[in-house]
Amino acid sequence: NLSVKLDRAFKTLKGQGSITEVNVASTIKEIRRALIDADVNYKVAKEVTDSIKEKALGRDVLIAVSPGQLLTKIVAEELTLLMGETNVPMDQTGNPNTILIAGLQGSGKTTFSGKLANMLKKQGRTVLLAACDVYRPAAIDQLKVLGEQIGVEVYTEPDEKNPVKIAKNAIKYAKEQGKKSLIIDTAGRLAVDEEMMQEISAIKKEINPSETLFVVDSMTGQDAVNTAAVFNERLDFDGVVLTKLDGDTRGGAALSIRKEVTKPIKFISTGEKMDAIDLFHPDRMAKRILGMGDVLSLVEKAQQNFDQEEARRINKKIKKNQFGFDDFLSQMEQIKKMGNIKDLLGMVPGVGKAIKDIDIDDDSLKPIEAIIKSMTPDERENPDLINGSRRQRIAKGSGTSVNQVNQLLKQFQQMRKMMKTMNKMGGAKALSNLMR
Ligand code: GDP
Ligand code: MG
Repeated sequence: NLSVKLDRAFKTLKGQGSITEVNVASTIKEIRRALIDADVNYKVAKEVTDSIKEKALGRDVLIAVSPGQLLTKIVAEELTLLMGETNVPMDQTGNPNTILIAGLQGSGKTTFSGKLANMLKKQGRTVLLAACDVYRPAAIDQLKVLGEQIGVEVYTEPDEKNPVKIAKNAIKYAKEQGKKSLIIDTAGRLAVDEEMMQEISAIKKEINPSETLFVVDSMTGQDAVNTAAVFNERLDFDGVVLTKLDGDTRGGAALSIRKEVTKPIKFISTGEKMDAIDLFHPDRMAKRILGMGDVLSLVEKAQQNFDQEEARRINKKIKKNQFGFDDFLSQMEQIKKMGNIKDLLGMVPGVGKAIKDIDIDDDSLKPIEAIIKSMTPDERENPDLINGSRRQRIAKGSGTSVNQVNQLLKQFQQMRKMMKTMNKMGGAKALSNLMR
């Protein structure tokens, strides 16, 4: 089980202040093994983990986030990035908008053709399905049944043996009938063969579709990547459809295929029913590959631990009246080094919800940072020293206004008071309050 493995891997890192070569090595190995278990091709898994290692090494760990949490985040980000970050939409231009469906037999082409037709119909488009599988009469009937089920017309020529001709006639018919979209379902073989490749390339050449989609069964694991490579070489397809993701397959094929053919995965198929179709979302797939549901609950637990520890530390400083701007600044700088502040603050319990709708970026921290840097060490340690003339000097030195300095000081005092009274609050929460 992947989450158990990650759990173990992250435990190794727990309680260490930064990610180093030594403490990351075994974790990276675990992650690599977990990816391979999730059907990610070995070569790809190695590349991914090497890159993750590079990104993770030397990153300081925010007090609010353990190395394990940070690493989880880096891994998820890296996987998302590798799969293209966002969904790439299908080309819907053309008159009619023509979509060619290719892939091996049994990969789910006919089923997907029906689903796509259904989806487009729901968007208000008029759709025509065309049956170009000339080898199996049953395939034509299968498409007809699906068409009836979703209320979409199916174009067939039971006596024509040339799929190129059927496809061309289907386009003509779609134009005559004023259909906006035409989905061309084709024949597949059990394995890649030359005849099939010639046939599908001929159809593509002849009709020049708006979109060529390669359909592949996610359960075929490693074979899926090889098939994708062969089809891409001959067809130069526009996108991939990953089917049968409703099974216990972990979706690693998505990562391998994307990396191998550098074409976007556009749709996923998650069942035999006509509504079991989704746009492909890289971030969701990354979570699936990582089994993030479980990892996230792990992260939450770690955060609770942090809250208590951090509260104790802050408490101590406050009791001794030692929490100053230097503590504040170092926290802030660590947060900044780690990239997206909002994401990170969002990981802190209680803060996530509060800042969800607020736009926080590095720039909003710059004046605060400048003000603190214009203070003397004494002033940072004991902000009560900062009187009127000092405020003026700090404002001038930091290129801000006295008003801004006053505001920061006021908020800082409030924060100290709040920490004193509530005892439980961590620096990160106080920081987020300051940034409001
Ligand atoms: P084709 O030969 O490529 O046209 O594949 P079909 O569309 O005929 O599908 C082959 C088999 O896979 C059929 O039994 C489908 O019901 C099934 N199938 C297709 N897509 C999915 C899916 O996303 N999930 C599941 N569980 N089964 C699917
Ligand atoms: Mg079929």
